[in-house]
Amino acid sequence: MPEPVYLDYAATTPVDPRVAARLIQHLTLDGGFGNPSSTTHPYGRTAAQAVEMARAQVATLIQADPREIVWTSGATEANNLALRGVMALSRHPRRHLITAKTEHKAVLDVCRALEQDGCAITYLDPEPDGWIAPERLAAALRPDTALVSLMHVNNETGVIQDIAAVGAITRQHGALLHVDAAQSVGKLPLNLQTLPVDLLSLSAHKLYGPKGVGALYIRQFPVRVRVQPLLYGGGQERGLRAGTLPTHQIAATGEAFRIAGEDMVVEQAQIRKERDRLWRALLKLGGVTLNGHPEQNVAGILNLSFAGITAEALLAATPEIAVSTGSACTSAGHEPSHVLRAMGCDARRMRGAVRFSLGRFTTREEIDVAIAAVSMAVQRLRALSPFQ
Ligand SMILES: *Cc1c(COP(=O)(O)O)cnc(C)c1O
Repeated sequence: MPEPVYLDYAATTPVDPRVAARLIQHLTLDGGFGNPSSTTHPYGRTAAQAVEMARAQVATLIQADPREIVWTSGATEANNLALRGVMALSRHPRRHLITAKTEHKAVLDVCRALEQDGCAITYLDPEPDGWIAPERLAAALRPDTALVSLMHVNNETGVIQDIAAVGAITRQHGALLHVDAAQSVGKLPLNLQTLPVDLLSLSAHKLYGPKGVGALYIRQFPVRVRVQPLLYGGGQERGLRAGTLPTHQIAATGEAFRIAGEDMVVEQAQIRKERDRLWRALLKLGGVTLNGHPEQNVAGILNLSFAGITAEALLAATPEIAVSTGSACTSAGHEPSHVLRAMGCDARRMRGAVRFSLGRFTTREEIDVAIAAVSMAVQRLRALSPFQ
């Protein structure tokens, strides 16, 4: 049996061959392997140039200034740095943070830790379609609210939040806004010249870059947002994130973001076309429910529940495709998805949820394989099952 069709791009993406070529350039003696902090010789200076070029490439994609980009080990660290870093400097009585129940664990688990440190946290409820109504945020703001943290695109459902509306409310109130954009950067336009966002988390491996690298955008213009570091050491990244910069990871990230900027519009239209074709074909099976918002969604994600069938049974019956139940992290723990739970899904719908996620290398033929495999499996499992 050949390898299954990869339809789990929301968990991670394969590295684009152009990005891999770039990464390899910065590993060996004949390449730019140097320590970017070693400014006394050309090895270090070449590496530093590669790092600064990548910083500019990341900044360009989100229309930020390169000085606003801090390299991290990924979006998890960026979220930790944003939330912990802001709340650590937020003086009494500004100790309140607002987030949503549908956030990634890399935000929710930080919030739990902040609660232990004495911060007050409000967890907003989404509507049944995953949308966070800006009015709910407005109602939750308190005089002591220091920070709001909301993701742009949800990794399980693909639902897009109205960051511009959220940012307008937050700014008017005098609080800061952090956005986890790991699932939206390079897929939706992000313009930090106009968006009232103060901190934004990025990851490379959701955008055809390598795992283990990402960045935090920290607004410097017109007003500097201050953040306390998590790591202390060599003073890299203007003291905000110590540690020798991984030149190869960073150069590769720059290339991944550059390619996304060039191809985003055409690529997303193509992905949406195939995603919608998959969706229409599976709807014909009947008893299929969308977990998410029918319009406010990113192109590559489709989260569906099939009545009468558990996700585990469906996955076992479709070895032709590689998809996930809920989110990748949740499926490891065999717990129902906290995102779907927050959206008010009942237990059967949560147990039946399957996430298909498409990307750059998804072909029409692969979607044909997925449609055939899932249709066959659903019909077979339903014929076996006495309950419908
Ligand atoms: C993948 C993901 C993260 C974690 O990013 P890493 O770079 O793997 O640490 C955080 N938030 C969202 C929304 C994600 O999809």
